[in-house]
Formats: sequence, C-alpha cells, structure tokens
Amino acid sequence: MKAEIIAVGTELLMGQVVNTNAAIISEYLADLGIDIYYHVSVSDNKKRIEEAILQAEKRSDLLILVGGLGPTQDDITKQVLAEHLSEELVYDLKGKKKLEEYFVQTKCEKTANNERQILVMEHAKALFNQVGLAVGAFLQKNNHYYVVLPGPPSEMKSMFTKELKPLLEKIIGKKEQIHIRVLRFYGISEAQLAAKLEKLIAEQIDPSLAPYAKNTEVTLRLATKSKNTNEAIKKLDYLEQKILAVEDIAFYFYGYGDDNSLAKVVISLLKEKAKTITAVESLTSGLFQSTLGEVDGVSEVYKGGIVAYSLDTKVKLLGISEASLLEEGVVSEFTARMMAKAARDIVNTDYALSFTGVAGPNSLEKNSVGIVWIGFARRGKPPIAKMFHFRKARQFVRKSAVMRGLDILRRELLD
Ligand code: ATP
Ligand code: MG
Repeated sequence: MKAEIIAVGTELLMGQVVNTNAAIISEYLADLGIDIYYHVSVSDNKKRIEEAILQAEKRSDLLILVGGLGPTQDDITKQVLAEHLSEELVYDLKGKKKLEEYFVQTKCEKTANNERQILVMEHAKALFNQVGLAVGAFLQKNNHYYVVLPGPPSEMKSMFTKELKPLLEKIIGKKEQIHIRVLRFYGISEAQLAAKLEKLIAEQIDPSLAPYAKNTEVTLRLATKSKNTNEAIKKLDYLEQKILAVEDIAFYFYGYGDDNSLAKVVISLLKEKAKTITAVESLTSGLFQSTLGEVDGVSEVYKGGIVAYSLDTKVKLLGISEASLLEEGVVSEFTARMMAKAARDIVNTDYALSFTGVAGPNSLEKNSVGIVWIGFARRGKPPIAKMFHFRKARQFVRKSAVMRGLDILRRELLD
C-alpha cells in the first residue's frame, strides 16, 4: 500500500508553521510497514486541494489529509473531499455530544460554525477526537482509502494512534509487521555509540539497527519485520542483549520507548522509592523544574523549588552569606553545595539539586563559558557538587546542565 500525506493550511506555505504532522504521520506509517511515497502541502484553497487529491489518487492508495477541520470558513478540507467524492456531509452523533458538553462545561457561547467541526462524510467512519472537537474521517471508496485528520499536532497524534491505527492494521492484515524497539541512552554521543556498535551496525541484518541523536539524548532503533510477534520479540531481545554487552554501553542505557525521556524515568524512580526532589536554579533559571513539570503525575515527588539568579537573591532567599559567596565565587563548588543544602532544608525534601554556571556568551569570575557546577544534597548526608564543562552555546549549556542533573539523580536512585 502506497500512502500520500496532504497537509492542508496556508500557514504551512507561508512558513509560519512547520509541517511536523507529515513527519510524525510518516513515522507512524513506517511503523505499520506502509510506504510513504509523497508529502504534499497545499493552502486552504478549494481548487488546489482538489488538484492535490486528484493527483494523489493517480499515484497512491491511501490519502491522508491533515488540517483544515476547524470551525471557520477557511477550513474546507472535508467540504472539498466530500464534494470530490459525491458524499453528503452529516453530523457525527458522538462528536455532537462532546461538542455540546464542551460548551456546557466551559460556559462559552456556541456559535453556529462550531457544528462544522463535527461533520463527516455520510459513508465514512467518523474518527473520534479525544483531545479537541473536530471529528476526523476514514472512508474506503473507488479503490482508495481516504483519511481526514485535524491539524493541531496533539489532536492528530491522539486520533491517529487511538482511532486510525487499528483500522489500518486491519487493512494491512497480519502480513509482515514491523516491530520496533527503541533503546535510550544519556551521557554518550551518537558518534561514540555508533563507534562502539560499529560491528553490529555493519552487520545490519535483522533486526536493523539505527542510532538517532535528539537534543542531548541518543536513541537506538531496533526494527524487524515479522508475521509473528513472539518471534519478533525474541529477535529484538537477542539484539538488545548483544548491544548492552558491548563494552560499557549498559552504563549509559536508561530506558525504552520513543516518547520516554530521562525526566520521565527519573520521576518514576522517585515514585518507586517514595522520594521527593527540589531544586534551586541559577544558571538554568527554572528549566530543570519546568522539565520535571512536563511529566504527568510529577506532583507526587516534586513540591516546588527556587530560582535564585543574582547574588543578591541567593543571599536573600537561600540565606547564604554574601561574604562567602563573594569569596568563593558564585560559580564554585562551595556555592553549588550551599545552594543545594539550602533548597533541601527550605523545601524539606529527600533530594535537592542546584545549578550554577556560565551559560555565556561572556565568561564569569574567570570561569570560561560552559563551566557548570551541579550541587546535590541528600537527607542525612553532606552536600556534594560536581563540575562539568559543556562546550557549546548558551541554550545547549543550560539544557545539558538539566540533563546532567537528572542523570545524577537517576544514578543515585539506582544505587
Ligand atoms: P482548528 O480547529 O484548530 O482550526 P484544524 O483542523 O482546522 O484545527 P488547522 O486550522 O489546519 O487545523 O491548524 C490548526 C493549528 O494546527 C495550526 O495553527 C498549526 O499550529 C497546527 N498545524 C496545522 N497543520 C499542521 C502541520 N501540518 N504540522 C504541524 N502543525 C500543524
Ligand atoms: Mg483551522
């Protein structure tokens, strides 16, 4: 089956929005073993959407239209597709119920155009939207499969995985399916990892093995095609064991899955051990705590923390003496330790991390750009601090510090 993605939206052509939906849908389809031959972007324009559909029908079996399902007059994807396929648009009842409940709950006034979002082609299967209001659609007609998905990425992702994926799986049947396992690493670069695995990557027989670097983490994607899930799992297990047995690779391995992260792993470890964490941030000015806050259910282990950027604030909020800060330096082992200790005492948690350093572009107190001290306080133990040097630009230094802090915590929790 050949698939084509048609992203609809003038904003995509104007460069205001990057077409991340196409990238994500492509990944989803690849996981299903469906080949993607074309990505098309088209503006909210009836004639050009129609042309895009006509062209796609000539060369693809599965047409996925994404975007343009909103309530306003410029959202016309469904209307154009319905007219093209001589389908009537009818209201989806489940979508209508959700729409009505939404307006009751939010006490917003429902305008007539909101009903446009719950329209669906009469012979299509409606795809329910758990995140938003716009209903999607799936229709098999004239030797083609047509799919309509909403533009907002969170809605698209949820609708694809919960509603569309099972339908596509049924169509492609129990032929060869791709089974994927993602291993996640921190503290090693993509190049280092690839070098260590050179032999295994070169063999590349089955399962295949591909490293990817994203931000400061590296993932390894293991993939195998098989009709039999158990057989695939065995193959993946076998390769995983071989990988983790190479040199010190296991030291950097911290978890599985595409939508996992070091922060998620650390938070589940904290939960498992019933420990709490706080932080006091200078260099990262809240980035560490914000990273924790992105994870669902973090409130069990994170009560809050402190951002203390200037020397003055470190004195006032943390009660560290100004004289010693000046003597030891704001970016120093002493300061990192005192900050962590103060935060742990104030918030009363099991652990506290502190971040102080030079993000750049200018150096500070004779410390060059990228020098970071991370302090770590644990209940019942004297605070410690470690120095790191992240030799890159400002945002990278701050992100790296956050990741290193998470890594320190993870290793402590594994002990
Ligand atoms: P809405 O009800 O929000 O109008 P919609 O289905 O009509 O939803 P669009 O109007 O096309 O969707 O897009 C809504 C928002 O979703 C856009 O402003 C943009 O931020 C995001 N978006 C749309 N298409 C894409 C895309 N292809 N890739 C990434 N983001 C997108
Ligand atoms: Mg819209």
